[in-house]
Amino acid sequence: FNTERFGQHILKNPQTAQTIVDTANLRPTDKVLEVGPGTGNLTVRILEKAKHVTAVEMDPRMAAELTKRVQGKPEQRKLEIIIGDFVKATLPYFDVCISNTPYQISSPLVFRLLSHRPLFRVAILMFQREFAMRLVARPGTELWSRLSANVQLYAKVDLTMHVSKNNFRPPPKVESSVIRLVPRDPPPPVEFGEFDGLARIVFSRRNKTVHANFLAKGVMEMLESNWRTWASMNNVMAEDNMDMKKKVQDVLQETGYAESRAAKMDIDDLLKLLSAFHDAGIHFA
Ligand code: SAM
Repeated sequence: FNTERFGQHILKNPQTAQTIVDTANLRPTDKVLEVGPGTGNLTVRILEKAKHVTAVEMDPRMAAELTKRVQGKPEQRKLEIIIGDFVKATLPYFDVCISNTPYQISSPLVFRLLSHRPLFRVAILMFQREFAMRLVARPGTELWSRLSANVQLYAKVDLTMHVSKNNFRPPPKVESSVIRLVPRDPPPPVEFGEFDGLARIVFSRRNKTVHANFLAKGVMEMLESNWRTWASMNNVMAEDNMDMKKKVQDVLQETGYAESRAAKMDIDDLLKLLSAFHDAGIHFA
C-alpha cells in the first residue's frame, strides 16, 4: 500500500473534520456509509451522532487502526468495517453517505451512489476541487459538462466548503472541496445509458451546435446500428434505405434544438430532446 496510489491523505484539521460531519445533519436513527475511513477522523465524529456506521476501507492496516481507536468504547458496537474495495463491495442499507476517498475513484463513487437503491437521503463527499466544481456547475457556465448533466439528472448538488491541502497529512498535490448531494426522489424515469449517450454526443464539443455534433464521425453509424437493434426488438420492419441523417435532422428541427449548444442547455432541454429522439425510434445506448 502506497500513499499516492491509495490516496492516503489523512484529514488532520479537527475543525474541518467536524464541519464535514455537521454538514450531514445526522439524526440519531441514521445508518451511515463511510467510504475510505482511514484512521477514522471522520468516523469517530459520525459515531457520536448516528445509530450505525458501515465503513468500507481497502487497506487492512488502516482498518486495524480504526478498530483499535474504538475498541472497548460504547461506539465499538455501532461500527462495522468492511475491508475491501468500495467499487466491488456489497453495500448495506444507508441513510447518509460521508466520504473523503482517494480522488481516483471519484466518478465510480458518485455513479455507484446514484444507482444505489433504496435511495439515501444525502451524501457529503470530498473531492479534488476541479471535480467538485464540475459536479455543481450550472448550465451556461464554463464548467457545465457531461459530468454535471449526468449527475444533476439524478441529484441536487451544491458546494459546502473548500478545504486547502494543508488540512491533510501528508498534504496532497491538489486542493479539495466538499459537496452535498441529495438524490431526486423519485428519480427521473430515464435510462442512464440513453441520457449519457445523448450527452456524449452533444457535449463532445460543447460550444458547437447540436446539429454539428450529430454530424461528427461515427455518430450516424452508431445511431443506425442502435436503430436496427431497436427495430428488431420491437418488431418494426427495418427499412433498407433508412435515412438516419434525415430522421435526426427532422427531430432537431421539430424540437428547435438544431442550433442550440450543450454549453447552454439545461437538464430539461436535454430530456426534451432525448424524448423526441425516442418518439422517432432513435436510441443512444
Ligand atoms: N477518510 C479519512 C480522512 O479523511 O482522514 C482518510 C482519507 S484518505 C484520503 C482515503 C482512504 O481511502 C484511505 O484510508 C485509503 O486506504 C482508502 N481507500 C483507497 N481506495 C479505496 C477503495 N477503492 N475502497 C475503499 N477505501 C479505499
